[in-house]
Amino acid sequence: MNQGPVGSILRINALAACDGTGFVCAPASILAQRLAPPSLRLLAVGHPREIDAHPAAATALPVDLPTSIVTPAFVNAHTHLDLTHIGPTPHDPDSGFVSWVNLVRTARHSEPDHIAASVRRGIELSRAGGVAAVGDIAGAPAGIPNLTPYRTLAKADFEGCSFLEFFGIGTTIDKCRQIVNQLLSETVGCTCRTRIGLQPHAPNTVDIRLYRWAADLAQSRRLPISTHLSETPEEAQFVASGSGPQRTFLERLGIWHDSILEHIGHGQSPVAHLAPVLSAAPFLVAHVNNADDAAIETLARSGTSVAYCPRASAYFGAERRFGPHRYREMLSAGINVALGTDSIINLDTADRISPFDDARLLSRRDGTDPLVLLRMLTLNGARAIGVDTARFTLELGETSGLVAVDAGGTIPGANPHPFSLALQSGSKPVLL
Ligand SMILES: [Zn+2]
Repeated sequence: MNQGPVGSILRINALAACDGTGFVCAPASILAQRLAPPSLRLLAVGHPREIDAHPAAATALPVDLPTSIVTPAFVNAHTHLDLTHIGPTPHDPDSGFVSWVNLVRTARHSEPDHIAASVRRGIELSRAGGVAAVGDIAGAPAGIPNLTPYRTLAKADFEGCSFLEFFGIGTTIDKCRQIVNQLLSETVGCTCRTRIGLQPHAPNTVDIRLYRWAADLAQSRRLPISTHLSETPEEAQFVASGSGPQRTFLERLGIWHDSILEHIGHGQSPVAHLAPVLSAAPFLVAHVNNADDAAIETLARSGTSVAYCPRASAYFGAERRFGPHRYREMLSAGINVALGTDSIINLDTADRISPFDDARLLSRRDGTDPLVLLRMLTLNGARAIGVDTARFTLELGETSGLVAVDAGGTIPGANPHPFSLALQSGSKPVLL
């Protein structure tokens, strides 16, 4: 919506305002100064009567949203904006993960201009979904790490982290280290809101020695670090037994080496396999569709954040294979669980890329507490990708943005949390 020119003072009048700290105000007025969109500086938040008395209220530009719920902007903790050009694509979960990987390998762009255009479209669709910060995976076309997604996000000054993805297993470990070091040196000195981070792809494509190297590098250089973890049955089979379609895939690429079996094929779960490196750096791990009690304990003890991507898990049929995702038990164990969308390929919303739609799925399917969902969408997401959590609250001061969702009118029933109305409505989230 981008209300008002930069520097102007807005008065947003809404049905209610709430954030992930538990703050609720209904009805609500917010006085805010427009910064570079979507950022705003919050000057006052409260009941309209209190705001009337504020000295800036008389001349503020009114933004009347009498049927909307206003919240901080959302964080998408795990996405792949460089795949946006592919769009939502149906997939038969029974055809296996490797067939899907082949689809992506064929459809993804390798030309920098094309990758940049896809990421720019991803930024537009993120904003169309009320998202002001992302944990975006800068994918590696043909297995070669690529800075174009980072540069595109940085040029747009999009808040968050671009996680530089790399693969390195078998014969490719040393080359991978060299390339990643070289690309990291090219990012030094950038002062934009987009940070660079590291993304060893997954335990079935990255040797544990390379994970250790990346974790040490992340720790010493204070870089955010992320990985896919415990996502598919193929990954679990490969890690436990060193066999299956994932091994065939590596052999087909000509990068299989028997030294892989030093660390793979010893009956471990993916989380147990990675446990030593998870405690070496503050990881953000995507998915964790399969987690036994020991895995939850490992993630909690190591301070690992989880990006749960509910629509991606449903798209790949993860629940049929592993049972319901244990995100609520993870939260109870003290794990910082955020929401991600994964790529647009597995989404059912062609016009936006937003974890708000994943929160709606959890609300509908599991009846999850709306405040928990709001926290996962804002504070937990910010913590997971290493940005200031205060920017995703209604505390006074600079914020990454505000979102309005039209709740369609009056508050029904017995005093529900206002965010439940936003979740239940079919309305689009709008960045103010
Ligand atoms: Zn992913």
